[in-house]
Amino acid sequence: MRIVIALGGNALLQRGQRPDCDVQEANVARAVAALAPLAAHHEIVITHGNGPQVGVLALQSASDPHLTTPYPFDVLGAQTQGMIGYWLLQAMQNALPGRQVAAIINQTLVEANDPAFQSPSKFVGEVYDEAEAHRLAELRGWTVRPDGDVWRRVVGSPKPRRVVETRLIRLLLTSGAVVICAGGGGVPVIRNEQGHLEGVEAVVDKDLTTSVLAEALEADAMLVLTDVANVARHYGSPQATPILRATPAALRRESFPAGSMGPKVEAVCRFVEVTGDMAAIGRLEDAVAIIEGTAGTVVTPAGDYGGPDDLRPGRPAPSGPA
Ligand code: ADP
Ligand code: MG
Repeated sequence: MRIVIALGGNALLQRGQRPDCDVQEANVARAVAALAPLAAHHEIVITHGNGPQVGVLALQSASDPHLTTPYPFDVLGAQTQGMIGYWLLQAMQNALPGRQVAAIINQTLVEANDPAFQSPSKFVGEVYDEAEAHRLAELRGWTVRPDGDVWRRVVGSPKPRRVVETRLIRLLLTSGAVVICAGGGGVPVIRNEQGHLEGVEAVVDKDLTTSVLAEALEADAMLVLTDVANVARHYGSPQATPILRATPAALRRESFPAGSMGPKVEAVCRFVEVTGDMAAIGRLEDAVAIIEGTAGTVVTPAGDYGGPDDLRPGRPAPSGPA
């Protein structure tokens, strides 16, 4: 089977942890221990978040006296793909000796006229007081907004249309490689009037990019792995109940916070609606159990799932010797 797996930002850096290299390498080892058993039996693509990492790089770049202007967001995104890609690549190679593993830099095509550019909403980088925020906005052409009682820069979060390197990823997969890609949702790019790709200052949601990629790769399943075992109804209240199985329509009747569970639910619903295949949300450590049908919130067209035998139900049985 072909499985596309999104790793949450907290898989690499848990809430409250310092973003030190050794901390993240230890987390990557934990992530790879959970994913290597799947990689041993399936074609897998791993995507990942980069929120905390890009925040650190933005801060460094903004305070580097050698630079005339800090590196733009697309460039910082590519840097995090290199760094996180390297950690995952090496850990995966060590876990699967002999297997080819590729970590690729990649771009996500967005539309220049996406309404998200007109109303930027995603907080990025450092916090400022109001006067400094306005000064920087003037100097660098930023949009700034209050975030509680501090001010921060905001950028747009346009809809991912296509992972530019989709064909390359497919080629690598069919040649047997494990592919790590679309870090941070991919570096957002537009196609300009000359038809050339050009980076834009934006952040693409990694869960939505993952569903666009999984669709394009005709994946059999998509997993969105994070730090909760299930999507819950009435989350955070005493009445909270885990959702084990759902149809996309049933999940869409619930409401989820835009900054966390919302995009994950949107991503899995979209994948299932478009492909008729299975998608799930759950805990990183449960990756294998989710595919086995014993963990996570599993979403399918009919809202049922009994394990891997239910995937590709239309596929003819393998013909072997009688
Ligand atoms: P990631 O870094 O993996 O993308 P997020 O923090 O963006 O993780 O999203 C996962 C978080 O969503 C969980 O840790 C949980 O606190 C939160 N959450 C919000 N609503 C729900 C819900 N209804 N069910 C489960 N978790 C929820
Ligand atoms: Mg998130």
